Amino acid sequence: MEKPDILMLNPMRPLAEPALARHANVHKLWEIADQDAFFADVGPRVRGIIAFVASCPRALIEKLPRLEIIANSAVGYDGIDVKAAAEHGVVVTNTPDVLTDEVADLAIGLLLATIREIPRAEKYLHEGRWPQGPYPLTATLRGRSVGIIGLGRIGKAIARRLEGFDVPIAYHGRRKQSDTAYTYHASLIDMAEAVDTLIAVTPGGAETRHIVNADVLRALGPNGILVNVGRGSVVDEKALIEALKSRTILAAGLDVFENEPHVPAELIALENAVLLPHVASASVHTRDAMAQLAVDNMLAVLAGKPPLTPVPETPWPPKK
Ligand code: NDP
Repeated sequence: MEKPDILMLNPMRPLAEPALARHANVHKLWEIADQDAFFADVGPRVRGIIAFVASCPRALIEKLPRLEIIANSAVGYDGIDVKAAAEHGVVVTNTPDVLTDEVADLAIGLLLATIREIPRAEKYLHEGRWPQGPYPLTATLRGRSVGIIGLGRIGKAIARRLEGFDVPIAYHGRRKQSDTAYTYHASLIDMAEAVDTLIAVTPGGAETRHIVNADVLRALGPNGILVNVGRGSVVDEKALIEALKSRTILAAGLDVFENEPHVPAELIALENAVLLPHVASASVHTRDAMAQLAVDNMLAVLAGKPPLTPVPETPWPPKK
């Protein structure tokens, strides 16, 4: 039987291609010189798209009339037009759970690095400045209270870890959750007023764009710490830079940015910002687990079986 054709949008972990190639003809978009010719000749046969953090606008989905699945090797799928996918009966899958603990670990690391100035203290030693005197005293996690924006899979894993640090925990989301005793705030600004440490771990997209804005930062106050491991679009970066410069808040730890991989020079120059290049899930172990789940979703659908982890916007079976 002819193998189905699938399109890989960007390089994935090494395990992905051989596993897919046993069952499908894998076309690697970044290696195709004449993409117009590819979409004209092979496009009508392509049944699946797979990628690491896929970017899939409507125009791409509509170029592939036999498309059945977009298998995203990431949990966030704000780069995929899920509405267009749903309209065309295409299932979108992501990689929930397999990265939860890794991202939560990094969030805690980033929180401590920000409050206790770990990168700056290390730099101080590396620069040979210790003999001239001890590193200045820092802020503390002791006595803080933490508000989590987005108490989902990762938010809950962060909260579980924070319980070990003996800090009170609150959360903000669109609804109060019945299975948790953490304090719920329907309003983000109210939560920012009530706590001094915010950790953002919501999805990106239009609904959460700039929900952390100048007003929220002002409410957080001069002892305030903001950590963002969700999506860069959730925070108004300009307002954050202003708040860090004017000490409206104390410091920020960011793994995600509005225009990745470009980070404003103004932000890089700030001493009270700890900045990471979007690495929260970036261990070999976890990136392999994500790639494997994306492959398993793809192979299931190509074999006529249900996908393992469809996103809520494209329930299975699709309505074609
Ligand atoms: P979940 O879907 O389990 O959790 C998302 C949470 O966000 C839910 O609690 C939801 O609560 C809340 N939320 C959704 N929309 C809004 C809104 N408009 N306002 C307030 N809260 C909202 O996802 P995960 O925990 O698995 O992942 C969360 C996000 O983390 C991903 O979407 C991704 O963007 C990011 N991420 C970043 C990584 C990195 O490398 N830095 C790695 C992995 C994930 P409710 O429904 O009650 O509103």
